[in-house]
Amino acid sequence: MRKRIVAGNWKMNLDMEKGMSVFSEIVHMVNDERNGTQEVIICPPFPLLNQFAKLGAGIVHVGAQNCHDQASGAYTGEISAHMIKSTGANYVIIGHSERRQYFAESNELLLVKTKQALANNLKPIFCIGETLEERNNGSYFDVLRTQLKEGVFGLSEFEFEQVILAYEPVWAIGTGLTASPEQAQDIHSFIRQEIENHYNQTIANNTSILYGGSCNPGNAAALFAQSDIDGGLIGGASLKSRDFTDIVKALN
Ligand code: PGA
Repeated sequence: MRKRIVAGNWKMNLDMEKGMSVFSEIVHMVNDERNGTQEVIICPPFPLLNQFAKLGAGIVHVGAQNCHDQASGAYTGEISAHMIKSTGANYVIIGHSERRQYFAESNELLLVKTKQALANNLKPIFCIGETLEERNNGSYFDVLRTQLKEGVFGLSEFEFEQVILAYEPVWAIGTGLTASPEQAQDIHSFIRQEIENHYNQTIANNTSILYGGSCNPGNAAALFAQSDIDGGLIGGASLKSRDFTDIVKALN
């Protein structure tokens, strides 16, 4: 049985004080609503990881938003997967479209980062998604297939079983435009079929595939009701404790 997951991606928002207060509220509210089959994760900026890992107390899990592809060394300003793990975090987002776009991260690089994460017992939340142009010109299935093939299908079965996938259409991120539940389901079932074609049916059925892109308390339940949507990766709405926990409730 695959897990149902809601993960918050705080991006480069909130400082120590504000972050601690929002996170404490989330832990409190999620604890009250707790349902053992679900996983709730917050991915704050790096400086907050250690405090959050302690405060989360296994109720809300903690992840980073990126890691470097090398284990250690002369990479000024970078953070390794091992360092992230040592903070108490257990997840890392890899291949978010903002990293692909602003930091020119290629599928090949993202595969190396994913392997680094796995070698350090971090669960990767691996993001794929098409741009508006690719959606409009009809090439999006090819784009997604290539992101999967070059990005994560280079993993062994054993490695891939640790991966959470997130489908985030770039045109829906931070825009207020959400994929309709049917549009998202279409893509999620395509992704699951690709996993089955590359690995096997059991692995495909066990892989959690999250939807991300302007997911909010108003549209989460309809998205999560789709058979191949196993939860969400939430940006803007994860910065408000009430909105985020309402989205967690929509998993039920
Ligand atoms: P959004 O961001 O929910 O603000 O659209 C989602 C994401 O970028 O992960």
